[in-house]
Amino acid sequence: LQELVQMGLLMFVSNGLLLSVSVFVLGAVSWRLLLLCLICVPPVLIASVKFQRDSNAAYLDVRDGIGSTLTRLQEGIAGVRVVQAFGREDVESSRFAARNWSLFDAHMRSVKVSAWYLPIIELSGLLTTAVAVGVGGWWVHTGELGIGTVTFFVLTLSNLFEPIQQLSQLFNILQSAGAALDKLFALLDTPVDVPERPGAVDLPERGDIDVEGLGFSYASGSPVLTGVDLHIPSGTRIALVGPTGAGKSTLAKLIARLYDPTVGSVRFGGVDLRDATRSSLRERVVVVPQEGFLFNGTILENIRLARAGATDGEVLEALQAIGAVERFESLPEGLLTEVQERGARFSAGEKQLVSLARAALADPAVLVLDEATSSLDPGTEVVVEHAVNKLMEGRTVIVIAHRLSTAERADLVGVVADGRLLELGTHPELVKAGGSYAALFATWSGGIGRSGLLPSP
Ligand code: ADP
Repeated sequence: LQELVQMGLLMFVSNGLLLSVSVFVLGAVSWRLLLLCLICVPPVLIASVKFQRDSNAAYLDVRDGIGSTLTRLQEGIAGVRVVQAFGREDVESSRFAARNWSLFDAHMRSVKVSAWYLPIIELSGLLTTAVAVGVGGWWVHTGELGIGTVTFFVLTLSNLFEPIQQLSQLFNILQSAGAALDKLFALLDTPVDVPERPGAVDLPERGDIDVEGLGFSYASGSPVLTGVDLHIPSGTRIALVGPTGAGKSTLAKLIARLYDPTVGSVRFGGVDLRDATRSSLRERVVVVPQEGFLFNGTILENIRLARAGATDGEVLEALQAIGAVERFESLPEGLLTEVQERGARFSAGEKQLVSLARAALADPAVLVLDEATSSLDPGTEVVVEHAVNKLMEGRTVIVIAHRLSTAERADLVGVVADGRLLELGTHPELVKAGGSYAALFATWSGGIGRSGLLPSP
């Protein structure tokens, strides 16, 4: 694309101009010779059409090849620890080499396509000159044309073929750029999963969450959630518990409108999330994932991600609010410490703290938390737990709980199993009711001394 934009227009205008002026001058000098020269048009035309077909396919292959080669490379580098751990270096190298060779082949095919095209154009030029010299020479011999006229014609003829050659090169660039555009548009045209409706309204500052008759299935499968009804009053903390794959995360994602329900609805303060503006939705509802992700840049910039216009003071306040300032200020360059290599030098707990600080800076009404399953080092664990508790104050919280203590402390506990909300109530209520939560609780209490993590029910 860059090549086309930088040189394309220039090439097109200058060569187009040269070509049309040359045709005009040649026609004025001897229109009969010019007509003869047109014998070169059919082969050039046929070659161009064939070239266009073949090169289009070849360039698309090259683009696909570049995409999959880079993907394999990126995967290999990102997963280098796993590869090393299982001694798979050779296998991975040869898989990459195979991909790389097929990219090489694709390049070679595209080179071959233009390798025959350009000589055909050149050959047509030479043939035409030969015809002009031969026939022109004969007409000089018969006295129909002057020798000066034919000489001028043959010399000017080169001005006809150079632009044609240049324009065919431009055609080549155009084909390659077309293939690039195809790829770009395929990406840009990806439909948005959760579009904003025309006339969408802002969500109210605070409000209850109402889930009604909620059902959901991912694009390619059977229902993951069915008939979920749930009322979460503003300011309530609800813990979702249940076996892996039950649908807890999916329910949390629907409440944050990362997806739209297949049936039923999720409302916040009476407004269906599908009718809400995206900006107000992202302001009110913030999702804190299990693992914090750090971008290149300073810690300060990483936290500021949550609210672009926030001042340094506001970022600091957010960190203070969750009690995590000391943790970062003790670094050699404090909050201005650069995150490199996706935060490889920061512990999981520190990454989590950045995530929590981002949420504090965004200051949402609703917090969707996916509790970390892996345990952190004891020192950090305390700081993170404290930060989570501070962050939850005064907000509606939906937490996917993996720890008994989290479920115990929540105002409400929802047991999700097989895509349904089986039980809902406070911890004491559910324990007393003697249902599945009570059974789980009995098992968990037995195992709490060992890990504090909820065993798989
Ligand atoms: P939980 O959080 O309770 O472990 P999830 O909500 O993550 O459960 O998953 C519920 C079900 O949905 C599982 O069977 C899982 O395989 C499936 N699932 C989760 N995410 C996706 C996805 N992006 N595409 C397709 N299926 C998914």
